[in-house]
Amino acid sequence: MKTKTNKNRRPTKGTKTTHGTSRRELTLKDRLSRLTYLQACKLLGTEGVQLIREGGGYEIDIDGDVYFRGDLFRLRLNKTVVTITLMAEAKQRLHWNCTTCNSACAHVGAALSLILEEKMALGLAAPPPERIPVESLSEQELVELAIAQRQERSRKERMTVRPVEPKKLWSDYMVTSGESGKTYRVALRGWQPGESYCSCPDFRKNTLGVCKHILNVQRKTKRRFTSKECKRRYCRSRVTVHLCYAK
Ligand SMILES: [Zn+2]
Ligand SMILES: [Zn+2]
Repeated sequence: MKTKTNKNRRPTKGTKTTHGTSRRELTLKDRLSRLTYLQACKLLGTEGVQLIREGGGYEIDIDGDVYFRGDLFRLRLNKTVVTITLMAEAKQRLHWNCTTCNSACAHVGAALSLILEEKMALGLAAPPPERIPVESLSEQELVELAIAQRQERSRKERMTVRPVEPKKLWSDYMVTSGESGKTYRVALRGWQPGESYCSCPDFRKNTLGVCKHILNVQRKTKRRFTSKECKRRYCRSRVTVHLCYAK
């Protein structure tokens, strides 16, 4: 039986809404926020994986070495300057440059490793869905949201944890990102925010007393030690200085 209704009409070409104004308007910040590890590797070509891991070894002070405004990301590594911008002709594509090298190098690898690893500290973390107006949240809710974002990252990202003293629970741990190659030191001293320490830039800035590295170490150590051992509190054996960033 033939049914003749208007519903079967195909949308005409003119009704297409996907021919990309929104795409072309992506800013550098948008692009870097969404940059995945695979995309970063591809940007550097066949040796991408290795260059990013190698670049992860550079000591970088985000406040002093990084400039990031508008459509320019710039990283200074001694006398070398790496820039990442959007291509003029293809705005959605990222373009990198190194003042020292002519081809893909560990300097650019360092910039990409930093961007992948430090989205929080660089202000590149994705905003919450639906963009909850911040002023509608209480101080407590803001803190919970910030910790939840780090919990998620601590679960999703691959990290290798090496205890400095494997038999001790309250030890220092070296945490290395499997992808970016960056290593930070976590001093595990308790389970509550503010009790432990991490040498990463996010911990220094966020005033939460935790970061994704501490949360990752906590989850892994809880599996390695009995609940009785975990309940035993850390006991200082010598004078130490502890600075709490909150308040
Ligand atoms: Zn270079
Ligand atoms: Zn950290």
